Amino acid sequence: MNFSSRLPEVGTSIFSVMSKMAQEHQAINLAQGFPDFPVSEKLIDLIYQNMKAGHNQYAPMPGVPALRKIIAQVVEQTYNRATDFENEVTIAAGGTEAIFSTIAALIDFGDEVILFDPAYDCYDPVIRLNGGVPIHLNLKPPHFSIDWQEVKASITPRTKMMMINTPHNPSGAVMSEADMLMLQQIAIEHELIVLSDEVYERIIFDEKVHQSILKYPALAQQSIAVFSFGKTFHATGWKVGYTVASEAITREIRKAHQFVTFSVNTPLQFALAEYLSDSENYLHLGKFYQQKRDFFLAQIKGSSFQPLPCFGSYFQLLSYEGISCKSEMEMATWMTQEKKLAPIPVSVFYKDSSDQKLLRFCFAKGEETLTKAGEILKMI
Ligand code: GLN
Repeated sequence: MNFSSRLPEVGTSIFSVMSKMAQEHQAINLAQGFPDFPVSEKLIDLIYQNMKAGHNQYAPMPGVPALRKIIAQVVEQTYNRATDFENEVTIAAGGTEAIFSTIAALIDFGDEVILFDPAYDCYDPVIRLNGGVPIHLNLKPPHFSIDWQEVKASITPRTKMMMINTPHNPSGAVMSEADMLMLQQIAIEHELIVLSDEVYERIIFDEKVHQSILKYPALAQQSIAVFSFGKTFHATGWKVGYTVASEAITREIRKAHQFVTFSVNTPLQFALAEYLSDSENYLHLGKFYQQKRDFFLAQIKGSSFQPLPCFGSYFQLLSYEGISCKSEMEMATWMTQEKKLAPIPVSVFYKDSSDQKLLRFCFAKGEETLTKAGEILKMI
């Protein structure tokens, strides 16, 4: 049968490709971003208790009220934004579903969406699947900061949305207050919706403060913030995240969300509601990961790989300029197969496949793993 593909040039996600390759070659997997340390026993017990208590049927479509209520409180405390849990918080099956449902709900055929490369791999295909037109602007190493003049020059009457991501995957860059004020000004002037991927909100280092769009009232009115419990509680496999957005935007997101997944895992939501009520369970995450970043950097001291600045997320970029002329994909493949250490080539996050001799390494790992990885890197 003949049929046309909606995404003809899209293959399997790089995260699946590299994890499979790492497994096949018994390589240390610093490619796909996930922690290798355990989830809190307390949280696991809470899930068990909630399953035993009978919370095993469909949750309400927007999420369990107790969870949305505590999220609204945490948002208020953290970002000083009054949040109505009934109408402004929606629980999604992870950040990826939150992004999909938001774009599906808000992007019309032919709408342009400005995004910044290196961009997380789902952004571009999700925009296109929903009829939108992605407009890619490149961020450059080592700082990966946004050129706001370029942004202004890229806005057309068809521009509907901008997507941002801070702390940024894969670069570890974080947006500043000045960036946010600029974003706010542009978004208001051109009536743009801002989709803000903030899944690494708590993984931020060196006294930097996370600049959520929620901290800027006028901007927040026309934005969606996306968060992820997988990142905050070391449980990427649970696939639970949420959006915070104005009532009008939330109403639209839920129209899509209810037909993408309807509702999200019930006992987990009850457990997360209880667990989130103790701020000790999330307030120290930045410090925890800063130690990991510093430990990893200490392990690679003396290696020919050059670290780029990293202020957030659990990814460290390393440059191999001067070590090899291989393309990033070739280098990542060679390292996985021959050196038994798997990274992610940064070129996959650029629409134009910019090859800058950069590899991404996930440092959400135990010290033993990071030590071994450091030994390998020092020998290359
Ligand atoms: N967010 C993770 C990363 O950037 C991977 C998620 C996935 O495998 N789809 O590595």
